[in-house]
Parts: sequence; C-alpha cells; structure tokens
Amino acid sequence: MSADVGGRIRLIWTVDPDGYEIVKRGPGQVEYIVPLSSKPRFIDVALLEHEIFIDLANSARLPGAEGILEFVNKWGLLTNHQLELVRDFLDARQDLRLAMQGDTNATNRLVARGRGPSGRRGGAGPLHMGFLKKRLIFAADSLVQFCALELIQANEGGIDVMRCGACGNFLPLHRKGRPKRYCGNVCRSAAFRAAHRDDINRVRRQKRKRQKTTTSLHGVTKVRRVSA
Ligand SMILES: [Zn+2]
Repeated sequence: MSADVGGRIRLIWTVDPDGYEIVKRGPGQVEYIVPLSSKPRFIDVALLEHEIFIDLANSARLPGAEGILEFVNKWGLLTNHQLELVRDFLDARQDLRLAMQGDTNATNRLVARGRGPSGRRGGAGPLHMGFLKKRLIFAADSLVQFCALELIQANEGGIDVMRCGACGNFLPLHRKGRPKRYCGNVCRSAAFRAAHRDDINRVRRQKRKRQKTTTSLHGVTKVRRVSA
C-alpha cells in the first residue's frame, strides 16, 4: 500500500537491514537489543496495514532471543531506534498479549509506554503531525505506541482478535465473512484429532483387528501349496 492510499495514522520508523543482536552491557550485565549496523532503513506503514501488533504478540511463541530477534529483524525496536532493554521488550509484549485478551489495565500500561516527549522511558509522547506527499498525517511516537493504537483501532472497528483453537496463535484480523478459527490445515486437523480422539482410536483399534485377521489369512495362503 502506498502512502497515498489511506491511513492517516502512520508509523515512520527505522529497521536495521543487517538485523539486531542481544548484548550484555554494564557491571550488571544487563541485556540489550541493539542494531548490528548504523545504516537504518526507514519504513512507513499505515495503521493495521501489516497488523504488526499480531506479529509482536506471536513472537512470544518462539522462546527467548529467537522470538525477540524474529520480530525486531522485521520491524525494529519497540521504543527507541538504537537500544532497547530486553526486559522492557518482554514486558511490553506481555502487556500486549494481555491487552489482546481484554485486560484493560494492560492496555493502559501499553499506551503509557513509548519514548515520551523527550525520548526518556515511560510515558508515550503525542502523535507527531506532519505532511506526507502534501497529505496531513499523524505519526506514532514509537513502534510500541503504534502497536497499542493498532489494537485499539481493531477493537473500535469491532474486529475481534481471534486465537487459533489449536496452538493459541493470534490470527490475522478478519474484516469480512466468517472468522478463521485456526492458523491453517495443520492446526485444523490437530484440533479435529483432539476433539475426536476417542472415535479415532476406536476406529484404529477396529482396523488393526481386521488387519490382523487378514494377515493370518495371508499366512495360511502362503504355506498352502498350489499344485499345478
Ligand atoms: Zn494454530
């Protein structure tokens, strides 16, 4: 989607094309997420254009650094372009996941994150008004604020945030028609198997019984000599 097509609330953010790493710094060996190069690439996206908040929530499916890096390599750091505490990332993500399940305290905490007016931690700053191709736009203060706004907009628009009935992943927003209930066929058949475990096992047992009978019949056939 280009900038002319709708979406006045935007995220203008930086992503390091070389990716990110987790390093330990200071006497406390505190963990930070940092960009690998100093050549950030600018991204410009509209609210709900890519449903970044769902990517953030689902990155928790991969344990530890793996999930964090998967997300930041795609969308950048949450509150700052240069440096982010792993602890802050994990707290923000946990609040988002709770907010997506209807926890209003978590939603409030999430909105209050962000860079703040002077770039300090805590307290999201205001949306920045500006012009993009002569069009008035409002840019989010930070990626974490943008994710909170995406969730709020989805709720306001009456779009349910759905989770996969098998693996618990948050599903892409549906705007029309019947909502999806599973990620895909793998989860759909896993859910089916779980729901019908007893039936499936009974059918299997019966099949095995029948197979046994057939095998013994074959055995008989084998030993029997066929005279020409
Ligand atoms: Zn699933």
